Amino acid sequence: MQTPGDQAVRDIVLAGAGHAHVSALREFGLAPPPGARLTLITPEILTPYSGMLPGLIAGRCEFHDAHIDAARLARFAKARLVQDEAIGIDTARRLVICRNLPPVPYDLLSLNIGSAPDTGDVPGAAEYAISVKPIDGFLAAFEGLRRRAAARSGPWRLALAGAGAGGVELILAIEHRLRREAAQAGRDAMALAFTLVSDTDDILPAFPAAFRARFRKILAAHGIDAATGAGAARVEPGGLILSNGTRIAADEILMATPARPAAWLADTGLPLDGRGFLRVDQNLQAEGRPDIFAAGDVIAFAPRALPHSGVYAVRAGPTLAGNLRRALAGRPLKPFRPQRQALYLLSDSAGRAVGTRNGLVFEGAWALRWKERIDRAFMRRFAGLPDG
Ligand SMILES: Cc1cc2nc3c(=O)[nH]c(=O)nc-3n(C[C@H](O)[C@H](O)[C@H](O)COP(=O)(O)OP(=O)(O)OC[C@H]3O[C@@H](n4cnc5c(N)ncnc54)[C@H](O)[C@@H]3O)c2cc1C
Repeated sequence: MQTPGDQAVRDIVLAGAGHAHVSALREFGLAPPPGARLTLITPEILTPYSGMLPGLIAGRCEFHDAHIDAARLARFAKARLVQDEAIGIDTARRLVICRNLPPVPYDLLSLNIGSAPDTGDVPGAAEYAISVKPIDGFLAAFEGLRRRAAARSGPWRLALAGAGAGGVELILAIEHRLRREAAQAGRDAMALAFTLVSDTDDILPAFPAAFRARFRKILAAHGIDAATGAGAARVEPGGLILSNGTRIAADEILMATPARPAAWLADTGLPLDGRGFLRVDQNLQAEGRPDIFAAGDVIAFAPRALPHSGVYAVRAGPTLAGNLRRALAGRPLKPFRPQRQALYLLSDSAGRAVGTRNGLVFEGAWALRWKERIDRAFMRRFAGLPDG
């Protein structure tokens, strides 16, 4: 028999310390949801914030500036931390299956596990290319790449496949860092060559024409070739073969191709779209599954297609936290209303940023300062939290 002091505690399990969950944990720490026991499942303790990545790669900021301490955040939210990777969901028994540790039971589950570049159908990519996601893996691989670039005396070439916002910012950041380091070491910085590969006819296909034109000029000014109109079809040691048969010789090959979700989602019986992303309704609730929520890159937002970008993951955080709270209390949920036109500010890694919103395009050093203010303000929300 249940006594009044013995209220049933229900388990809210957050899988992944993505951009939405870090905000949700912060909110739960500030105002704990009554009757809830929180658990965070994350394979990594220091979780990267995408907005700061180009700065980290370019060497403009430090590792800790670009990462949130998920363990500290979990302590603040009084959440149990399960350091592991979710590899499945038993929806009938309400269990998250982990790679190493025992299954984690849930009453409400939320997924914010991100995505990875879709390299599945590019033979050789897994063996001979570096994927830019997961980001912690990429950061470690980048250190190796820097060492190899520094050890080369003659010409050295890097090709990066994927000319979305992440790919463009990343190749500019890498070019900036490696040329600077080469020059500092007294080597010929121009012996390093960079090629950005895009399967679409232009780079940044989702962005306005003036924005694309601006970045074409910036790439050219930085000595970065853009090979457009044919995507990566095969990767082999020392080169990338494009779908039109062209071979791009490269000592290092990076993949920043469009996002794909975790393959194990297909075995969960949850509703997925044609590409395997989890279909959620306007309340960020998995369609037909009132006990499962999700946000960020992993979702296919049923009301309208959303770009897979950190901006939308961050924006979803408060709605997600509120709806987990409401679902627990049996109250009506609130819809997520993402902006129609998000603000994008992309750094050129040379002291300026180009921005776009509502079709307007602007740029300058001031735009980079604006971007850095936004990013640092986001990170500050997690830096000053009391420890548990
Ligand atoms: C180089 C680069 C630069 C980018 N720059 C920008 C930018 O400037 N602005 C922007 O808006 N977007 C940018 N993006 C895109 C952005 O990174 C993603 O859209 C964003 O990170 C998605 O956020 P998320 O919260 O869904 O997932 P993520 O930020 O990827 O977080 C997912 C988390 O879940 C964890 N996880 C993964 N799998 C599991 C699992 N099975 N179980 C438990 N935990 C798991 C991961 O370790 C990670 O901590 C960039 C991407 C790249 C690659």
